[in-house]
Amino acid sequence: MRRPDGLLNHNLLGEDKGPQDACGVFGVWAPGEEVAKLSFYGLYALQHRGTESAGIATSDGERILIFKDMGLVSQVFTEGDLATLKGNLAIGHCRYSTTGSSTWVNAQPTLRPTKYGTVALAHNGNLTNTGDLAELVQKLESSSTSMSGITTDTEIMTALIALQDEKNVEASALAVLPQLEGAFSLVFMDEHTLYAARDRHGVRPLVLGKLETGWVVASESAALDIVGAAFVREIEPGEFIAIDKNGVRSQRWAEAQPKGCLFEYVYLARPDTTIAGSGIHKTRVAIGAQLAKEAPAEADLVIPVPESGTPAAIGYAKESGIPFGLGLVKNSYVGRTFIQPSQTIRQLGIRLKLNPLREIIEGKRIVVVDDSIVRGNTQRAIVRMLREAGAREIHVRISSPPVKWPCYYGIDFATKAELIANGLEVEEIRRSIGADSLGYVSLDGLISATQVASDRLCSACFTGQYPIRIPEDMSEGKLRLEITEVQGH
Ligand code: SF4
Repeated sequence: MRRPDGLLNHNLLGEDKGPQDACGVFGVWAPGEEVAKLSFYGLYALQHRGTESAGIATSDGERILIFKDMGLVSQVFTEGDLATLKGNLAIGHCRYSTTGSSTWVNAQPTLRPTKYGTVALAHNGNLTNTGDLAELVQKLESSSTSMSGITTDTEIMTALIALQDEKNVEASALAVLPQLEGAFSLVFMDEHTLYAARDRHGVRPLVLGKLETGWVVASESAALDIVGAAFVREIEPGEFIAIDKNGVRSQRWAEAQPKGCLFEYVYLARPDTTIAGSGIHKTRVAIGAQLAKEAPAEADLVIPVPESGTPAAIGYAKESGIPFGLGLVKNSYVGRTFIQPSQTIRQLGIRLKLNPLREIIEGKRIVVVDDSIVRGNTQRAIVRMLREAGAREIHVRISSPPVKWPCYYGIDFATKAELIANGLEVEEIRRSIGADSLGYVSLDGLISATQVASDRLCSACFTGQYPIRIPEDMSEGKLRLEITEVQGH
């Protein structure tokens, strides 16, 4: 492990973040394979789900080693680091913080000794009963200083598993899972066994894959492709699995009540991932076609905001008959950096990430397709950029309904007050971003494009109807455990 100084990293786009994903998880059980390297490439494939920190834990059957640091997967690990992480099984994590700040100590996997070995755990999602669970940890711990240092819901889960009076990690986990509320796709391990579990609603994705020599668990099916694993199936909502030399054992710890995240289809998941049997790219093309039906425009060219807007723009262009073109060039390498941007660079804002192609844009009526509007700053900057590049008209089309409510299940959009659609009507948003017209796809249109029944989806950020109860203290946001700790409660 290195850099225990809690260094924050910096978002080159300053305050205008858009929806931030909330972690990718990966686990592998494959004796004889280089499990750390497989985890590295698995996390590399899941990098879009979390760019703040990355970590891998491995076990050789005797002890668990862990290495984590702030930064992108490619920044955190060297060949030498991975060579020291020997073992038969491993778990990995890339993080965007939804509970706890973006610091080294909050990076995952988390690790805890238990009376029967060690448990390491990685989490994608966000628990909604962290207050109650933190109290439970305090009760179970004999030391009065027990909660010092616990600043994330992931550490709470790890502590709860470690503190159970059961015979092994498996029994402890099965005792803890029913006490957790909220969204969680977990991979965890002891010295011998890889475990995975998914909340009863299956809010965040989690899939099982097969290697020739073992098994893989990952947030998205695309990560299986990248490490050469065959997709076996999704891990079911409310399912627990254990993988060791005897193969895969599965059991239900709760009855499934599916509420998969609708936003995974719009933006979060990779286009080459499959969720609930639907290819994400194909689904986004269908959403774009639906958008063209619901919000047509008289225009010369359809361009995407790359890359998340690209499939929907293809669908929009196909359905409308308006030619598709690439009018914005993206620097794919802009992400998180430890270099503090200077004031001048900060002011460049969006241009660090996107730059218009004048020869494509000039003199044309443009439809620009994006996946969502959160605060509106990005779209305002894009409209301004396109006008400066000579666009005659700019028609903004969005492949999701207005985001009016925060997500408490693992995506950090913004607070309710920061969401532009929470206070403004569509026409007011249009004026605010400076577009000639603005259109969103309807909720029904979006859901029909996913081909998933609406009662099996969470759409709370669009509707305010939260399928999992939100307690009052969630309003304190992702730093609530740190606030509690500082205040000494
Ligand atoms: S609130 Fe929105 S982003 Fe959060 S889980 Fe539900 S659909 Fe997904």
